Amino acid sequence: MTADASGSVQADAAGSVQADASSPAPASDSIPGAAMVYEAVIGIEIHVQLKTASKMFCGCSTDIADAPPNSRTCPVCLGLPGALPVINRRAVEHVLATGIAIGATTPEYTRWDRKNYFYPDLPKGYQISQFELPLAANGRLAFETSEGSVTVGIRRAHLEEDTARLIHATDASGRRVSLVDFNRSGMPLMEIVTEPDLHTGEQARRYAEELRALLVACGASDAAMEEGQMRVEANVSLRPRGREAFGTRTEVKNMNSFRSVERAIAFEIERQARALDAGETISQETRGWDDDRGVTYVMRSKEDSHDYRYFPEPDLPPLRADAAWLTAIAASLPELPAARRARYRETYGLTPYDAGVLVADAGASAVFEAAIAAEPGVAPKTLSNWVTGEYLRLAKQAGPSVAGGDGTDTEAEAGPALHVDGAELGHLVRMVVDGSLSTTNAKQVFERHATTGEPVAGIVDDLGLRQIDDRDALAAVVDEVLAANPSAVADIRAGKGQASGFIVGQVMKATRGQAQASTVQALVRERLGLD
Ligand SMILES: [Zn+2]
Repeated sequence: MTADASGSVQADAAGSVQADASSPAPASDSIPGAAMVYEAVIGIEIHVQLKTASKMFCGCSTDIADAPPNSRTCPVCLGLPGALPVINRRAVEHVLATGIAIGATTPEYTRWDRKNYFYPDLPKGYQISQFELPLAANGRLAFETSEGSVTVGIRRAHLEEDTARLIHATDASGRRVSLVDFNRSGMPLMEIVTEPDLHTGEQARRYAEELRALLVACGASDAAMEEGQMRVEANVSLRPRGREAFGTRTEVKNMNSFRSVERAIAFEIERQARALDAGETISQETRGWDDDRGVTYVMRSKEDSHDYRYFPEPDLPPLRADAAWLTAIAASLPELPAARRARYRETYGLTPYDAGVLVADAGASAVFEAAIAAEPGVAPKTLSNWVTGEYLRLAKQAGPSVAGGDGTDTEAEAGPALHVDGAELGHLVRMVVDGSLSTTNAKQVFERHATTGEPVAGIVDDLGLRQIDDRDALAAVVDEVLAANPSAVADIRAGKGQASGFIVGQVMKATRGQAQASTVQALVRERLGLD
């Protein structure tokens, strides 16, 4: 399936969303027997918007997010007769880079094809795509799931142009109208298609998350699902366990978050299992996901690719990808997520879980790297805890960022921007480790640093939080507190542990948290002659 159809149908069906009434809503838990009787076979198609300055075949800007409708257009992307396309080199390089990153092969030369169909968002009557000779083929991607490591085969990755966007609305007089915005028309898209190697909703979600991390690392796409830069579609079919032949598949789309991908596929597997159990046949169709109701619904019956009458694009020459070009692209690839996770485990001794959390978020990973570089002596595990804990907590509050990607739903309102400098976090953690700042105060300092970007040392001095390591000064405070609380002292002497905690708390209060609790405890026992 293609993105153009995805966009069209999505908009088209918006006014008439209906759940499939023929299937009863399944319980939230899966049917115990279904997974035993049937095996789900899942293939994923993902369209991502490539990160380029101009569109796929013209010079129009791709900066369309806040542009007025139809302001980023020219004769090429409007599809006017006689306008000729020119290939965007950067877009081609993004697909070649992705191909190398997934271990795919690139043909010596590739060809452009016209995919013919009519829709109001495609006035020229065809989309320029790649059919027989995709820029990348036969790759693979490995990722971790709760049930272990999974490797999915990637059949192909190719380039194509996006279509315009249809908007169905009601005008001032209450009349229903359909509007077309051509800003999206001609945006560069990469379509990535897996082999039908996946079997659960979780595997599909994890694949999509891993692919996104890889695309962000390569710089090919920001791949923000909530902004429509990454659209996931799943082909789902069931077959009796042990049987080779595939069952009839349905295509599920309109999944707008990683969580939706997992939920929608899990629902579809159950829906099909119930239908098969009831002796019904599955019809080949496209189904949408209604996230609020937690159901898939029929959108339309599905075409096969031969219905599109692909033929070679006469306005574009075949494209040669010579060895020198591929070598240069390979050399410019950054460290990929899988390699980075392995390095975090092997070099820094992080757990697979911690390494996974850090690498899944480009911002977190960058902060961790900068912190380690600034304070190589600080334990990586402690730093990692600060990044996966405090940093990600504040990042989540700040809302979705382009660099982020923690796989959570991103309904959150965008909050104030974060100004975290990894080196400063490194300095902060060192102060905690060497005892010159308490953990509680350090969290307060970090929050202010994240909001204002001020250096950590300046904040600590400004707030007067530097921990008191002068034993004599502390002893004086302890003596004052003991003198002021005779009944607590009596309790301590009587062996009541809580009273000791009370005294320590009073000393912490008197020093505004700057005293080291262990030192205070020792001093209390010493002053009372208990040791
Ligand atoms: Zn244009």
